[in-house]
This record gives sequence, structure tokens and C-alpha cells, in this order.
Amino acid sequence: MLPKGKSGTTSLKSSTSKRPAADKPVATGVETPVQFVKGVGPRLGAILASRGISTVKDLLTFFPRAYEDRSKLSRVSELQEGIQTTVAVQVIGSRQIPIRGRGKSMLEVRTSDETGSLSLKWFHAPRGMESRFTPGSHIIVTGTPKVYMGKSEIVHPEISFGRAAAPEDALDSAPSYNVGRVVPVYTELEGVPSRTFRKILWEALEKYSHLLSEDLPDGTLVEHRLPKLCDAVRFIHFPEETAAGKKFEIQDLVNFNTPAHWRMVYEEFFKFEYLVLRQRLRMGRLSAPAIGGNGGKETVEDLLKALPFTLTGDQKKVLAEILGDISQPHPMNRLVQGDVGSGKTAVALLVAGCTLAEGGQVALMAPTEILAEQHFKSVARLVGDKIKAALLTGKTPQSERNALFQKLAAGEPILVIGTHALLEDPVVFKNLVFVMIDEQHRFGVEQRRTLRRKGTRASPENPARGVYPHALILTATPIPRTLALTAYGDLAVSTIREMPPGRSPVKTKVIRGDARTRAYEQVRAELKAGHQAYFIYPLVNESEAEGFTELKSAVLEAEKLGRDIFPEFRVGLLHGQQKPDEKTAVMDAFKSGQTHVLVSTTVVEVGVDVPNATVMAIEHAERFGLSQLHQLRGRVGRGSAQSYCFLFAAQRVGDSTAQRLDVLEETNDGFKIAEADLEIRGPGEFLGVRQAGGLPFRLANLVRDRDWLLRARDDAHNLLKNDPDLNEATHLPLRRYYEREGNIQFERLKTS
Ligand code: ADP
Ligand code: MG
Repeated sequence: MLPKGKSGTTSLKSSTSKRPAADKPVATGVETPVQFVKGVGPRLGAILASRGISTVKDLLTFFPRAYEDRSKLSRVSELQEGIQTTVAVQVIGSRQIPIRGRGKSMLEVRTSDETGSLSLKWFHAPRGMESRFTPGSHIIVTGTPKVYMGKSEIVHPEISFGRAAAPEDALDSAPSYNVGRVVPVYTELEGVPSRTFRKILWEALEKYSHLLSEDLPDGTLVEHRLPKLCDAVRFIHFPEETAAGKKFEIQDLVNFNTPAHWRMVYEEFFKFEYLVLRQRLRMGRLSAPAIGGNGGKETVEDLLKALPFTLTGDQKKVLAEILGDISQPHPMNRLVQGDVGSGKTAVALLVAGCTLAEGGQVALMAPTEILAEQHFKSVARLVGDKIKAALLTGKTPQSERNALFQKLAAGEPILVIGTHALLEDPVVFKNLVFVMIDEQHRFGVEQRRTLRRKGTRASPENPARGVYPHALILTATPIPRTLALTAYGDLAVSTIREMPPGRSPVKTKVIRGDARTRAYEQVRAELKAGHQAYFIYPLVNESEAEGFTELKSAVLEAEKLGRDIFPEFRVGLLHGQQKPDEKTAVMDAFKSGQTHVLVSTTVVEVGVDVPNATVMAIEHAERFGLSQLHQLRGRVGRGSAQSYCFLFAAQRVGDSTAQRLDVLEETNDGFKIAEADLEIRGPGEFLGVRQAGGLPFRLANLVRDRDWLLRARDDAHNLLKNDPDLNEATHLPLRRYYEREGNIQFERLKTS
């Protein structure tokens, strides 16, 4: 039977008791240190604490990783090799069998029921274990049988010792947390067996689960038909059929697919989304210069006429969203996502023009020199001298730097395009009102903050208040919606889905084994037709030693490609350890068509624009994330000619790896690819592993529980509308929760 929570009177009694027992540690409900749970004690307590289980509450929410169905007992004759089962048997006898040559022995216990006999074996039986198997006693055995020399046996089974006199009673007398039900299986911590956990949790639930405080408003639970916290927790550990007799499948338990599990997931999402949305609300109250009303809008119109193309519908939409934001006296905090080549930079430049026209300074930070230079050149290409821009990278000569620093400090309205060189101390802006960050996932949160701080200053009217710059983040990695709502929850999101006209989708092929030669011939045909090709090698990982390997393979491959495979063409080589000048020279040679093939490590991932290149060949494609591959693919298909992408993959890779590459053959939609990536590789792919670890979800899973996230988000939104400060009585428990723990979570979720 499920341990039922003690009735409400018990807790009432203990809290109003007139004798606050000074001699004993005061039981503080679920905050009681875990070592005081029956069966824990100091040693196990320390092991648990080292895994973050310090209080009873931590213990109660340490959920099973799996379940076993022990609700039905099998007979010995029904045992099947390799299939875990529970049987009730009678002990016949036991003996120690010496293991030859090792000075050790094995314990064998012989048992039987009326259908056959079963032998149980332990290779490292604790001393004295033997004595527990009294001949004639009835025990319940769980384990995975096998056949050894024609006899059924189970090695290292789990035993429940009952006190039953007859087999029919074995089940009734055995501890009810171990048999006769679906039992939980816990992750083993330092050799503490699942069985021990089961017992401890049973005790803890019995004594404390009714003390778990309910933070969610009743109405919410009723609306979503979710159980109360204490019921949910009990069910997850020791699932029982509900009063209504509703059955559950073990698979549902494992997949977090029961109302009890949903409830836990919902609560995590809800608490998080409320904070995220509140943070956005707060940002909306800060001050920033309003832009656009003093000639800026007209300048945008002029620039639009000067552009060598008309904006796509999506570009127009996003431009309007941004202009709308910055026309308000509150800081914009917006993310623009769109595939490589979708025209994000063009939109950003228009907004920069708007800002400059009204005397504000703008900074555009890019992750690499190549990309910064390219942005800088595209200003001239797109709008001539209508936008005053300067370039600041590690390469900028000292004299030029000093001159630029002076202008910036004096407040001259300039668009400064640069690398992280922009973050250095001597770069001081007098009037930086707009910061743009390209390819943001390459920058850390701290770097983004530093850039923004350069535009933060005291308000002229009220020195006690700050004025903040507007911020625009551009990313070519589409962010799955669930991540946009969580990790980027404090950002507004604009999306460009539509590509500029005249681009045909890149034909993509995953190449394994023998097909390589044919692929090379296709590349050769492209080169013969006057087109160009990229060959990309992966960054194996970020350690220095690996950096060396990576470098070596690209260098060797460049040689091999040039010598053996495409001897009639010229091959250039680009990698991360070249000097900036070298890189530029290699890129220029490729852009101008002097070299036909560019072998590169992933340096080219961000932003080179060579419309004549029609082939993107990627080696060891299985080592890349799908979104990253998709970005690389975006480097071709920029001209009018048909382009190709070849993904070379190892022949023998795990099935899932092989399958995931097929997604790229099937679709060019960056959003679908991003969702697949999230499913396969988790949020680390998008956020960087550290930042993804910062998502405070212990149970919830962004892919599996997507629907609950959306519901929680809506509810949090409504709550903020109706009772933002949680003053209503039904919201007081929630408020108390945030007062206790809100700040910890709050710090984690800041992305900018
Ligand atoms: P992104 O920054 O999203 O990668 P860019 O703004 O660099 O894209 O645009 C990619 C290329 O397409 C550039 O050469 C740019 O000039 C061009 N381009 C941008 N918008 C359009 C458009 N609406 N029509 C035609 N070409 C465009
Ligand atoms: Mg770009």
C-alpha cells in the first residue's frame, strides 16, 4: 500500500506544540537534514549530501530513473533467460563454493517451487549473508535468470525476506516497497543499492510527504487536471493505480508521461517563465534614448532607395519591429534570427543609419576579423558613403586606432564595426546608443554585457537613473522555440525566414565509403565549369593538442587534394592559426578566383561571401552539429548557379548519427534542422555547454515537454497581468517561494 500522508492534524499538532523539545533537533518539516530519515544516518547522509541531497525535500524529489514491475509473481518453470522476473521460492539449502586459485568463494543458495528449482549465486557475498537463508523459509527473488549447465540460476538477485510460513503468504509478508507492485529503481550513488534507496524513500514519504508545501495555486492544478505536489511525489516513487482504477504503463512512468510527472514539469516551467517574463517587464521600465523621430526614419527611407535591391517581406517586417522598439524610450533587447544570407546584416545597417542620423553612435561586434571586415566592406557596397563607418580589429594600426578613439570619445556619430577589440578599455564612447552583436552564440554573456556597459550612462535629467543602449543580436542559428522562450526568454525575437530572390536550394548528399570518388568527380565538373569549392575540416575539440591535430589534418588534406585529386586546380588553405594577414591573403585569392578550392577549418563558418562557390564539401560531417552544418552549407548557393553540399561521413557510425545527417538531405529549413538538433544533442548545441547547464530544469525536458512549456508560459503571462506582485491569497505560497529562492534562479537566467 502506498504510504499515505499523515492527516493534517499531525502537522498542526507538531507546529502548535507547547514543548519545542530543546534537547532534540527541531524537525523543520521537509527541510530536515536527510540524515535524520530512518535508515540514513551519518555515513549515507554524507554520500547523499555530496550529490546535492541534503534535506528531506531533496530526497523526496530524487526521482527513480526506472521502474520494475514486480506486481506479478512468476513460477520457476516460467522463467525466461535474460528477462527480469520476480519469483516466490522456498530455500532448500546454501553453501560456499571455493573459487579455484583465487582464495575466494561464492555463495550458492538452492531454492525451488512446485514447478522447478532455481539456484542463486553471489560472488562477493557479505559475511553472514548465508545465515539469512534458513532452509524451508520462503523468499521473493528478483533478477535476470540464465541457464548454466542445464539449470536455471540468477546471479546477484535481489531478495525480499518475508516471514511467511507458506508461499501464498510470501508476498503479503514481504516489505511492500520491494514486491507486489511496480517498484522504483534509483541511480546508484557510490554503491548504495537501489534497494536501500527504496526503503529510505518509503520511510521518508511516510513521514514527510504530507509536509511538502504546495506553491502552485489550486486553480491552476484543477484547470490542468494535475495532482497536488505531495500526491505527485508519492506516485512517482511508488506508483499505484488511481482510485478511479486508471492503469499506467511502465513506459509512461519512464517517459515522464503521467499526470504526476507532468505536474512536476509544469511547476518547473511555470516558476521559471514567471521570472523570465517579469525580467522583461522590468527592462521595459528602464530608460533608453528614443530613436527615429528626429530625421532617422527619413534617413532609412533614403537608404532604402540607395540599396541595390529591395527588401524581402521578412526583412521589411523585422526592420519595422526594430524601428518600433527603438522609437520607445526603453532599451530594446531583440534577437534577429535568420539563415546565413537571409539579409540580417542589411537590416542592421539600415537601423544603424537611422541612429547615426540623429547623432547616436553605433557599435557592431562580430566574432572574427574576416567577418568584421566583410561587414565593413558591405557598408560601402550597399549604401556607399551614406553611412559613416570605421573598422576596429586587432589589425587596425595604432595611429588609426588613436584617431578613432578620439572621435568616439568626442561623440562623433560613427558606426564602429569590430571584433572583441571593441571591448578593450581605451574604447570609450561618448554617446553609444545602439549595440549590435553578430553571431551571438560565439560571445559569452560577459562580453555582451561589457559592450552594453560602454553605452550605459547616467541620465542627464536625473543622474540617479541610468540610460541604457538598445541592443540587437543577430544569429544565423535559428533557435528552437522552446529555447527562445527559456534561455533567451528575456529577448524579443524577430525571424527572417524568407531568402532574397534568385537562390536555389543547395542539393545535399551524405557520402559514405565508396561514393567518395563519384563525389570528387562531381566537384571536378563544377570546377571545370569555372566554379569554386570549399572543403571543410572539423574542429575536433577545443584543447590545444586537438587543435594541433586539426591543423595537421587540414594541412595534409590541402596537400593531398592539390596533388592527388585536383592536380589541375589551385588549392588554398585557411586555418585558425594563421596570422590575420595570411588569412586575408588566402581569402582574397579565393574571392578573386586565383584559387579554385579552399581547404579550411571551421573559420569560414562565419560569413564569407563568394557567390561563385558552388560546392561545400564537409569532412567528418558526423562530428558537427546539424545547425552548424546547415550554416556551412549556407556559404554556397549564393549565386544563381545550382550548388551542392557533400557531407562525408564515416562508414561505421552509430545509427542515430547516421540518421541525423539525413535531415540535411531532406530539408533546407533552418528551423526544422534546429529542432532536430535540439532533439538529438540537447540545448548545449545552441547555448554552449556551460550556459545550457544554467537552464534550471531538473526534470523538465525542452523537447519532450514542449507542450507544458507553452501552457506554463501562458499561465505565467496571465498571472503577471492579473497579480504581478503576487498579492492575492492564492498566490502567497508562490510569493514565499520566490522570496526564498527567486534570486538564485533569477541570476541564472540572465542572457544579456
Ligand atoms: P546575413 O547577414 O543574414 O547572412 P546579409 O545581410 O549579409 O545576410 O545578406 C547576404 C547577401 O544577400 C548580401 O550580399 C546582401 O547584400 C544580399 N541581400 C540582402 N538582402 C537582399 C535582398 N532583399 N535582395 C537581394 N539581395 C539581398
Ligand atoms: Mg551575416
